[in-house]
Amino acid sequence: MHNPGHRFQAQDRLADGAQYIGGRLTKGTSGRTHAVVNPATGEEVYTYELASTADVDAAVAAARAAFPGWAATTPGERSDALHRFAAVLAERAEEFAQAESLQCGKPLKLTREFDVPGTIDNTAFFAGAARHLQGQSAGEYSGDHTSYVRREPIGVVGSIAPWNYPLQMAAWKILPAVAAGNTIVLKPAELTPLTSLLFAEAATHAGIPDGVINVVTGLGREAGEHLVGHPDVAMTSFTGSTAVGKRVAEIATSTVKRLHLELGGKAPFLVFDDADLEAAVQGAVAGSLINTGQDCTAATRAYVQRPLYDAFVERTAALMAGVRVGDPFAAGTDLGPLISHAQRDRVAGFVDRARGYARVVTGGEAPQGDLKSGAFYAPTLVADAAQDSEIVQAEIFGPVLVVLPFDTDDEGIALANDTPYGLAASAWSRDVYRANRATREIKAGCVWVNDHIPIISEMPHGGYKASGFGKDMSAYSFEEYTQVKHVMFDNTAVAEKDWHRTVFGDRP
Ligand code: NAD
Repeated sequence: MHNPGHRFQAQDRLADGAQYIGGRLTKGTSGRTHAVVNPATGEEVYTYELASTADVDAAVAAARAAFPGWAATTPGERSDALHRFAAVLAERAEEFAQAESLQCGKPLKLTREFDVPGTIDNTAFFAGAARHLQGQSAGEYSGDHTSYVRREPIGVVGSIAPWNYPLQMAAWKILPAVAAGNTIVLKPAELTPLTSLLFAEAATHAGIPDGVINVVTGLGREAGEHLVGHPDVAMTSFTGSTAVGKRVAEIATSTVKRLHLELGGKAPFLVFDDADLEAAVQGAVAGSLINTGQDCTAATRAYVQRPLYDAFVERTAALMAGVRVGDPFAAGTDLGPLISHAQRDRVAGFVDRARGYARVVTGGEAPQGDLKSGAFYAPTLVADAAQDSEIVQAEIFGPVLVVLPFDTDDEGIALANDTPYGLAASAWSRDVYRANRATREIKAGCVWVNDHIPIISEMPHGGYKASGFGKDMSAYSFEEYTQVKHVMFDNTAVAEKDWHRTVFGDRP
C-alpha cells in the first residue's frame, strides 16, 4: 500500500550493522540475517546480520572494560551525561518517531506523543535520580560501632526487551542501570532493533563513554540465553512473555544473578454500577486499543456491574467500530497493524475459537482492500464468554476486549483477581469507598481509578503474581540496579572485645 520502499531517516547510519559494541556499529557474525518488516505493508525495510554468541561475548567484554571507569564517575557527572543524552534525544525526536512507527506499525501520533516524549522524560528523570541515592542513616546501632550503607553499582547488566514498545523498553532497561553506575548489554527483540540501536548511538553522541551501553541483536534462544547465562553478567533484567521469563529465570538462577522480570498481563477493567458510563466506555476503548492492544497493561477484561452491562456493551461496540484503522503514517489513523502477520493470525485464532462459546459483538476480522497486505485486525469486542474460557484467561496481545457482567462488589473484585497475572487494573466508580476498596484488594502492580493506561516516570511499573517482580521507572527501579553494602567501623579500639567471649575465653 502506501509508502512503498519507505526508508527511515537514519537508515544509512545503520548500514554498518545491528550490533552496537564498544561505541561502534558492527555486523553480527552468526552467518544468518534477519529482516525488519514494515507490518503495515509486509515489505522488508532493513536486513541485518544476527549476533552470534561470540558477539555477545564481545559486548559483555566491552561493558566489563567500561565498568570501572563509569562506576567511578560521580553522581553529578552521570547526571550531566544523562541530561546531555535527553537533549540529543529531543533533537532527534522525529527520527525516533519515524523509525519506531516503521518497525512496529504504530501510528505516528502515538510515537510522537507517547513513545518518544516518554523516553525523553525518562532520561531526564534518571538524570535527576542519579544524584539522589537514598539509604538508612549512618549511626551507632550497636553502641560500639558506626554503621552505614553504601549503594554500589552491580556490574554488567544483561537486559532483554520485547517488540511492543522497543524504544521505551530500551530506555526502561538502560537508564536506571547506567544512572546507578552500571554498564549494560541490551538485546532487543529481533523484529524491532532500530530504535534501540539509535538510542545507543545517541548516548555516544551525548558523550556517554564507549562500552557503557551496548546492543546485541540476535535470536532469543541463542544470543538471549547466552547473555543471561554469561558469567560476567551480574544482573538480568527481562521484559517479555511469562513463558520466556520462566526460561530466563532458570538460567539466571543457575548462575546466581540478580533477576528482574517484567512479564505478561491480562488487566481487568472493573466498572461499578455508579460509574460514569461514558467515561468508562471511552476509557475502555482507549485502554484496550492502545498500541493495537499490544500493551502489557492494556484493558483486556471489562467486568461491568449488571445495571450498566447492556449499555456498556452497546456503546463500546459503537465507539470501537468508528476507530480508524489504517496506514500508520497517514494523518487520521487511530490504529495501526499488529507487529507481524504471525501475531495477527494468533489474535484471529483466539477470536475464531471464541465464536464457539461467546459472541463477537464487533470486529473479529482482518480488514480487506487497501489494508489486505498488512497485519491489520479490526477492534474487537467479545461478550458472553465464561470466566474460565481461553479468551478471558490467556494473554491475547491484540485489539480485543472481552466484557462480562457481575452482580456484587465481592464478585467483581474476585473476578478481577481470577487470572494468573497481576500487572495492572482499573476500577471505575464515583463512590470513594468502593474505589478505595478495589485499589486495596486487586492484586496488581498498578491500579488506576477512573482511568486506564497513563504512566509517569516518577512512579513504579511492575507486576504481582505471574506478571513478574522488580520495578521499571521511578526511584524503585534505580535502587534495583544498585546493591547495598553495610560498612561497620569499630569505635572502641579495644583488642579484647566484650563479644569475643561468646566465641572463646571467660572474660567477665
Ligand atoms: P517474548 O517473551 O517472546 O520475547 C521477549 C524477548 O525475549 C525478545 O527479545 C526475545 O528475543 C527474547 N527471548 C525469546 N526467547 C528467549 C530465550 N529462550 N532466552 C532469552 N531471551 C529470549 O515476548 P514478546 O513477544 O517480544 O513481547 C510480548 C510480551 O512481552 C507479552 O507477554 C507482554 O505482556 C510482555 N511485556 C511485558 C511488559 C511489562 O512491563 N511487564 C512490557 C512489555 C511487554
